[in-house]
Amino acid sequence: MAEQRIRRVVIAGGGSAGWMTAAGMTRLLRRKVDEIVLVESSEIGTVGVGEATLPTIRFFNASLGLDEIDFIRRTDASFKLGIEFRDWSVPGRSFFHGFSDFGPPVRGISAHQMWLKSRAAGDETSYEKFSITSTAARLNRFAPPLPNRDSVLGSYSYGFHFDATLYAAYLRGYAESRGVRRVDARIVDVRLRAEDGHIQELVLDDGRTIGGDLFIDCSGFAGLLIGRALHAEFEDWSQWLPCNRAFAVPCAHGGDGLTPYTRSTARKAGWQWRIPLQHRVGNGHVFCDAFTSEDEARDTLLANLDGKPLADPRLIRFTTGRRREAWLKNCVAVGLSCGFLEPLESTSLHLIEIGIGRLIELFPDRVIEPRLADEYNRLMSRSFESIRDFIILHYHASQREEELWRHCRSMAIPDALRHQIELFRAGGQVALYDSGAFAEPSWVSIYFGQRIWPRRHDPMADLIADAELNRELEHRRRMVEGAARSLSEHHQFIDRYCQSSLPA
Ligand SMILES: Cc1cc2nc3c(=O)[nH]c(=O)nc-3n(C[C@H](O)[C@H](O)[C@H](O)COP(=O)(O)OP(=O)(O)OC[C@H]3O[C@@H](n4cnc5c(N)ncnc54)[C@H](O)[C@@H]3O)c2cc1C
Repeated sequence: MAEQRIRRVVIAGGGSAGWMTAAGMTRLLRRKVDEIVLVESSEIGTVGVGEATLPTIRFFNASLGLDEIDFIRRTDASFKLGIEFRDWSVPGRSFFHGFSDFGPPVRGISAHQMWLKSRAAGDETSYEKFSITSTAARLNRFAPPLPNRDSVLGSYSYGFHFDATLYAAYLRGYAESRGVRRVDARIVDVRLRAEDGHIQELVLDDGRTIGGDLFIDCSGFAGLLIGRALHAEFEDWSQWLPCNRAFAVPCAHGGDGLTPYTRSTARKAGWQWRIPLQHRVGNGHVFCDAFTSEDEARDTLLANLDGKPLADPRLIRFTTGRRREAWLKNCVAVGLSCGFLEPLESTSLHLIEIGIGRLIELFPDRVIEPRLADEYNRLMSRSFESIRDFIILHYHASQREEELWRHCRSMAIPDALRHQIELFRAGGQVALYDSGAFAEPSWVSIYFGQRIWPRRHDPMADLIADAELNRELEHRRRMVEGAARSLSEHHQFIDRYCQSSLPA
């Protein structure tokens, strides 16, 4: 029904969210959409952070047909096997959340239940020794997984660290070459249709207006369309995720070099990220201003860098939460305009990816069927809430003694998370509310890392005799260690196959 198809989609904003949306939607051109226009203001700029990703970014890039080596070279990227959490449970201890599991089940009994049984019998081998990504990361090794998923060398995944500004520029080239039209101007007003309150057009600072049938709000924290014009309610989650500020600063390489993992180090009133790219290291200190001053937070960041800072630290203010309705009338919010959960597990770009994917699946025609919006909002709520609870778990389970941490330990948590933790404490079962971002091994990594131990293992694990269990676990540990050692050094792999195209 060509006459019903959307004539023009207008994307407001050209950060990662705007250009990812534009690139993802090019495949709709001439089939479901006649024209895509993106309006951004080079005067305003972008939030300029967002450098660590989940493995799902690879599927997004693949869906665009991007060449991975070319993408790595042009975004100064390095590989990410997971996150090291330092000092999170108590100062001096570290644990790893890797993008792999702990090995296959035996007769239906999961690897973590086998490990719990062995632990109950006095075995002190760390569960991380069964994770290929944790083991490889600690050895600074990397190679892409083999296609054979039955092999330990085929049983893991990886994401990237990259320069988010270069990524947006890369996708801009992709989208423009496929017909997306870019307008560089400041949006000064959003006009609504009198009859139904839908967005009619954007008014630009040079007096032009841009009308459309569907508007995608990618204007970042400003939320120009979804918030300021349509007044979609923002659900504030700072009672559970109280951090509300970050200082970000790049620095030169030094010390630990090009590690194939992100590091998150807990601090007195928050935590610090370290994200190594090929030419520099991205750093930031996320904190809650109720528990430290901005000066102290900046000093903490600067005192804990690998090398010389390459700019002045930049302060970013935020409130954790999300729009209750990400799709309202003829406007869909994607990116920071839709919500922000703080960057602890690098989930913002992932939420953008799934936001775009679901929008494409549920893409409307000009008569925007409200059920499509309902379904979109239902799915996005589930994803946001599940990731929210996963992040809260990191804070709530910490045994640190400073004020922020005591607050997080004693705060009331969402019912779903309370159920998940209690279920795990009872017998090591993992309840999943959304299978999207974080599957069972991810939850287990945080439970064990934060020393939440089940009161007992699953009695089904007792079907495996002690001797068989010991043999199996020892065999696995050796296999994982051998496989990790067979991989290249991370920096050597990059030097050989995908060196950055930026000047040194
Ligand atoms: C401290 C911090 C750390 C983060 N770390 C990570 C991470 O490690 N991994 C991850 O996945 N995500 C991370 N994120 C999130 C990530 O940065 C964002 O999700 C991502 O960059 C998308 O941002 P955006 O495009 O929605 O907004 P922005 O980058 O802010 O872009 C907004 C766009 O809207 C335009 N705009 C705004 N107002 C107007 C106007 N009036 N007229 C015209 N144009 C306008 C701007 O010019 C810009 O182009 C982090 C975020 C923060 C705050």
